[in-house]
Amino acid sequence: MVKFHNFSAGPGILNREVLKQLSESVYNDRELSIAEISHRGSKFVDVMERARGLVKELLDVPEGYSVLFLQGGASMQFLMAPVNLLHKNKRAGYINTGVWSKKAIAEAKNVGDVTVVADSSDKNFNYIPKEYTVPNDLAYLHYTSNNTIFGTQFKRHPESDVFLVSDMSSDIFSREIDVSKHGLIYAGAQKNIGPAGVTLVIVKDELLGDTGRAIPNILNYRKHIDAGSMLNTPSVLAVYTVMLTLEWFKREGGVKVFEHTSEEKANLLYDEIDRNPLFVGNAMREDRSLMNVTFILKDKSVESKFVQLCKEANIVGINGHRLVGGYRASIYNAMTIDSVNVLVEIMRDLEKKC
Ligand code: PLP
Repeated sequence: MVKFHNFSAGPGILNREVLKQLSESVYNDRELSIAEISHRGSKFVDVMERARGLVKELLDVPEGYSVLFLQGGASMQFLMAPVNLLHKNKRAGYINTGVWSKKAIAEAKNVGDVTVVADSSDKNFNYIPKEYTVPNDLAYLHYTSNNTIFGTQFKRHPESDVFLVSDMSSDIFSREIDVSKHGLIYAGAQKNIGPAGVTLVIVKDELLGDTGRAIPNILNYRKHIDAGSMLNTPSVLAVYTVMLTLEWFKREGGVKVFEHTSEEKANLLYDEIDRNPLFVGNAMREDRSLMNVTFILKDKSVESKFVQLCKEANIVGINGHRLVGGYRASIYNAMTIDSVNVLVEIMRDLEKKC
């Protein structure tokens, strides 16, 4: 059987054991599939509750926060965050570190006042801004913890007196986080925790309810919380797959273990990029992402040889985003160190052949 090494940025690699469990639940001869039973029945309600509970357990979510699984992707959260948290008399602060931050800013501007507190567009977003002042009258400060396209990552959350809102779509569950500094964390599932179609939301309850504006029901976190994350029909298969993935995280030893293996995998790749004279990394060293490793070949004439070697080794999904060019190896939790080693070997092989 062909073994693929899937470095796609998202939808990304899923754990093989999880996929086996999923296929067994989608079709077997003994019972109705998880995809064809009522979401109000106890079987699916248990799945939803287990998934929400595992998020709390694995991320050490303090009391007073609610966990939701919503639809509409992280892009819907670009809108729901300001709709629920930006009071009409206040402004929201955003740190602009790339495409996804820009989209979040644009959506927030549709709701109310926004100020961009820091911005790394001057160097095509190859770094995380460090020197900036956060006004203390903001409704919240928004940051994108990992920039999937540019390959940069906040090494820790920004310092701020106002509460933080974070898009953690591409690094959630890859490291320990201090949830208590955040009023809201959201993450599209399709990178680290499951398939596309569901978005994880962790929100601090006491912040909800006072924006001075009416909030449409389907955009209202409070309504989703009161309905047990089932205000409308949830994305049942996606939530189920997330639950299986979180169970796998737990069996492996939790987020701390993935933090360690993420560092190990990223170091392997960055060490080779820095050692091999053919390659150069895109992001500033201190801001390099442990999830999306972006790099280019210095000599464009060897690109086709590299692409051919990757193809022969069944390496897929390694092309960089068009705004950055070159290559991007996404090494989410389900990516094995063996697959990373296959890529490193290809990079060495290319050096020998050039
Ligand atoms: N935020 C980040 C950091 C992302 O990487 C992506 C998708 O790649 C998004 C937001 C958009 O997510 P969605 O397509 O689920 O709306």
